[in-house]
Amino acid sequence: MKTIGLIGGMSWESSLEYYRIINEEVKARLGGLHSASCLMLSVDFAEIEVLQREGKWEESGRVLANAAQRLEAAGAELIILCTNTMHKVADAIEAQLHCPFLHIAGAAAHAIEAAGLHTVGLLGTRFTMEENFYRTHLVEQHGLTVLTPDATGREIVHRVIYEELVLGTINPVSKQAYLDIIGELITAGAEGIILGCTEIGLLIHPEDAPVPLFDTTRIHAIAAVDAALIDTD
Ligand code: GLU
Repeated sequence: MKTIGLIGGMSWESSLEYYRIINEEVKARLGGLHSASCLMLSVDFAEIEVLQREGKWEESGRVLANAAQRLEAAGAELIILCTNTMHKVADAIEAQLHCPFLHIAGAAAHAIEAAGLHTVGLLGTRFTMEENFYRTHLVEQHGLTVLTPDATGREIVHRVIYEELVLGTINPVSKQAYLDIIGELITAGAEGIILGCTEIGLLIHPEDAPVPLFDTTRIHAIAAVDAALIDTD
């Protein structure tokens, strides 16, 4: 089993999910007392959030590339970045690594393709929904059609992430607002919805929606386990 390196803390609420899912998955596959070989370097999200808000992406890229290098130096054999948004600096991270870096949008796209879907709605931070770094993976590399909420919907989805979910607050009113937005995306043609922020799975669950939900936390964590166990009999 390879050692998985997790760049976490963005937020720790979702990093906890990664740790749980990765260990549950290894146990389910290998049985008995097996658990994952993994390392997590959890950053201070307050510092990252300021850099996001101020548009200092090069600096955040340096911080996260340094975290990735420290994980590799400590023995990680593959690296995952436990946030969709910060994949905006994925290239800066990957450039500093010798070991594989598993991109979250690539993992999501594979899951969508495996489900046979072509048109999906995307929920995430405004960076993820509005900029190209995430869509490009889905649209250009995998040929998917990606729908996003209207401006009001995007504002709600973004605000709930930063004011509630990353703080561990689960609010039924926000849940209903998300479900309404998901309903609008389905009406617009979405065959499935990407939960493209690693905390959304804390609010919305598969049984809440009439179409498949692609929870990037779960998909990414399981992709990491697939890669870690690839040579295991
Ligand atoms: N965890 C979130 C994501 O997947 C948002 C926090 C962040 O900005 O990194 O995008």
